[in-house]
Amino acid sequence: MTAKKSLQTSLIHTDYTAPEGFAAFPSAIHHASTVLFKNVAAMRSGDWKEKNAYTYGLHGTPTTFTLEARLAEIEDGKYCLLAPSGLAAIAMVDFALLKSGDDVLLPDNVYNPNRELGRWLSADFGITARYYDPLIGAGIAALIQPNTRLIWAEAPGSVSMEVPDLPAICRAAHDKGVLVALDNTWSAGLALRGFDLGVDIIMQALTKYQSGGSDVLMGALITRDQALHDKLSLAHMRLGMGVGADDAYLVLRGLPTMKLRFDAHDAGARKLAAWLKGRPEIARVLHPAFEDCPGHAEWKRDFSGAGGLFSVLFDPRYTEEQTDRFVDALKLFKIGYSWGGSNSLAVPYRIRQMRKNWQDQGILVRFNVGLESVDDLIADIEAAFAVM
Ligand SMILES: *Cc1c(COP(=O)(O)O)cnc(C)c1O
Repeated sequence: MTAKKSLQTSLIHTDYTAPEGFAAFPSAIHHASTVLFKNVAAMRSGDWKEKNAYTYGLHGTPTTFTLEARLAEIEDGKYCLLAPSGLAAIAMVDFALLKSGDDVLLPDNVYNPNRELGRWLSADFGITARYYDPLIGAGIAALIQPNTRLIWAEAPGSVSMEVPDLPAICRAAHDKGVLVALDNTWSAGLALRGFDLGVDIIMQALTKYQSGGSDVLMGALITRDQALHDKLSLAHMRLGMGVGADDAYLVLRGLPTMKLRFDAHDAGARKLAAWLKGRPEIARVLHPAFEDCPGHAEWKRDFSGAGGLFSVLFDPRYTEEQTDRFVDALKLFKIGYSWGGSNSLAVPYRIRQMRKNWQDQGILVRFNVGLESVDDLIADIEAAFAVM
């Protein structure tokens, strides 16, 4: 029996504990900065580094550990670390594996903030970041220097859609003891088995299909090798990469329907892309499932699906002013970054300023096909073509 408490203390301390035995489908949302220890010995023995115990909210709760375990399982990996965004997960890889004097290779079509991070590493951290042709394949061997530690790959590039030859890049890297990290966001870990192709680290922006709601930011790093996971874990702790419980819950809530949504995005995108291919306004459709997309053969060999994201190149007779008018005239397609949610999006990119040796003259517009009726999306685009 506790002594009679003052009202103020009763607001904070209670003797009530809910009965055990509650069960429901959703994972519980554990909110915690402070995590409680049974006694001092338990406090001293908990090791945040191993992520095998509850020590502090930043390093993991049952909610985040559950999400990590499920993502590792989806990718056929063993370990997973969550980060507050996809970009934070990318940065965690670089800070865990690179030090002053090292070299990192990035594809020339890399997710632009990853390129920006490369610039920062080069400018202020004594690390060289160099860029390779995403279609280089086994030729990457010639670019690997004695100080090269890491190769980033993206399959496909999320604006220009080239699909790299991942097994060839991984073989060349491993021959020289270099690690390969794959940004596997485009296919959500569903349509590309990165570890089977030789990749060492898989990064996903959970912000996209895993969440599915356009309402949460999160990233993940998945590995099979324990020593590599330990290195990433240390960076995770040192950089304070914890995620919020409610955000983790939102991603957990998205997982059961992810494959169904992904397949629906995929079917819609392929139907729309096929229709666009037949239109005189469009010079090229950059969708890996289409033969004229660079890396189509690799996509066919390595992927089992495609999701909702692809780009088109307008016929060069259209000026940027005209294609901007086209994007502005769209009603169902909204203008905004990201993808993987129910709403369709369209974004024009100044691709010739982004890429060194870009050949095509036409304006590039990227579509994220949401879950609306494709016929309505086609009608929306047709009306916007007329305004252009
Ligand atoms: C969105 C995205 C990221 C980053 O995810 P955020 O959660 O927005 O930081 C990384 N890579 C690719 C290919 C993406 O599309």
